[in-house]
Amino acid sequence: SLNLVWLRNDLRSYDNVCLHSAIEHAKRTASQVLVLFIATPDTWQLHDMAAIKQDFLRRRVLQLQQELAELAIPLLAIEGSSYADTPQIFAALSKRFVLNVFLQTEYELREQQRDAAVEQLVLSSGGQFIRFDSQCIMPPGAIRTQQGAIYKVFTPFKRTWLSALHSQGVTCYPRPKTIEQAALMLPEFTPMQTGDNSSVDWPVAEQDVLNLLRAFCREKVANYTNARDYPAIAGTSKLSAYLAIGVVSAAQCVARLQMEMKDSWQQDKSGAEVWLSELIWREFYKHILVAYPNLIKHQPFQIETNGIRWSNNQALFQAWCEGKTGYPIVDAAMRQLNQTGWMHNRLRMITASFLVKDLHIDWRWGERYFMSKLIDGEFAANNGGWQWAASTGTDAVPYFRIFNPTSQSEKFDPSGEFIRLYVPELRHLQEKSIHWPHNNGLVLAYPAPIVDHAVARKYTLELFAEVKNRY
Ligand code: FAD
Repeated sequence: SLNLVWLRNDLRSYDNVCLHSAIEHAKRTASQVLVLFIATPDTWQLHDMAAIKQDFLRRRVLQLQQELAELAIPLLAIEGSSYADTPQIFAALSKRFVLNVFLQTEYELREQQRDAAVEQLVLSSGGQFIRFDSQCIMPPGAIRTQQGAIYKVFTPFKRTWLSALHSQGVTCYPRPKTIEQAALMLPEFTPMQTGDNSSVDWPVAEQDVLNLLRAFCREKVANYTNARDYPAIAGTSKLSAYLAIGVVSAAQCVARLQMEMKDSWQQDKSGAEVWLSELIWREFYKHILVAYPNLIKHQPFQIETNGIRWSNNQALFQAWCEGKTGYPIVDAAMRQLNQTGWMHNRLRMITASFLVKDLHIDWRWGERYFMSKLIDGEFAANNGGWQWAASTGTDAVPYFRIFNPTSQSEKFDPSGEFIRLYVPELRHLQEKSIHWPHNNGLVLAYPAPIVDHAVARKYTLELFAEVKNRY
């Protein structure tokens, strides 16, 4: 039989339970190992996956192929098209081998359908299909109230999550050792193509990423509580893209954090504790997604908000996408996203709030646009973040708490340093005018504000009141 490790969003050799288990099984049964990745650009397109993320995935797979080759572990990277033709690939393989497929569970709809189809095929040809629920440290469903219910609010979820961490600790699987096996006789497949190199600024070697994690835990985490809200400061880990495709696991992050920071992760509001909270938010949104599968269909958690009469003005949406709203912090943020494929968390909150509560555009338009640009685009976090900002989600910001983009800008980019980085039209302005450059006819090249925040704010309150009163 062939022990087949089907990698998707777990593109690493360290702490990879699928890889580890397949190799152990191969040793016990004197059978062989093959690692498989299938590129599916048509489905990626259908899911609005950003070009930069597609390139990042391809680069990482090719790099992993080399890294595993050092251990004599073969990685077969196939160019496919959509999930629909995945079973054919397994059918071709199972003509030659009885397959034991090792894979990490995925929670989204088409992914589940794809996996179910492959499972049926593998089982019917006498193989095994072995899933590991390893995206989170605490798998979805594992963290429950005393009554056995799913938490809908973050803080008590976090408390229970932490006590589970206390009692279980965190363990990481070692990197496999070099294996010995004869060359496999594989059927012919189209080899995976390379991408457009748009993600080249993001290193993909596993050791480089682990070094980034270590450096962050050693040098930056202690100051995270203070630094994380300022987009001009590199105060966050920038590991999201790696966590999203599993170059590094959440367990590795927590293990490293504990190693470098000793006990400080247990002290309330310490940098380590606050950073750990972010990793718990990541898990919270995945747990919620599994418990409420309608979210996968882009339904709001607070279902009555489906009744909100969004304006959905195309021209305003376009201005937001392009970073031409006349609100400097919003424009700087959107241009950061468009130019680099990443956006600082504070700015994700500001721009999302602006789209929904200043422009009155359906949050799903923004969710989709973010997905089409982000290198770290990830369904649960993106959907969770958008529903949080739009006040449609579980434990979301209350609808009447509306960010004022100008005061957010004054507070979190006080000197205007971040704005100057991405909005060259405003580079010459001083601190006092950069957050709102519209008073003295100072800047002709910069767009006039596309809405009046005070007016827009009032209208948002009416829009939400309408649906809230009805129920
Ligand atoms: P750090 O501050 O170093 O945090 C460490 C890790 O914790 C992150 O890498 C990420 O995996 C996780 N994390 C941090 N904050 C959150 C959060 N609020 N929710 C879930 N996980 C979190 N994150 C994504 O990974 N993919 C997305 O598509 C995504 N879309 C978002 C959309 C909106 C509207 C909002 C408000 C937030 C979104 N986030 C998303 C969450 C957050 O903005 C990013 O994870 C963070 O900015 C990534 O930078 P970092 O790695 O330096 O984070």
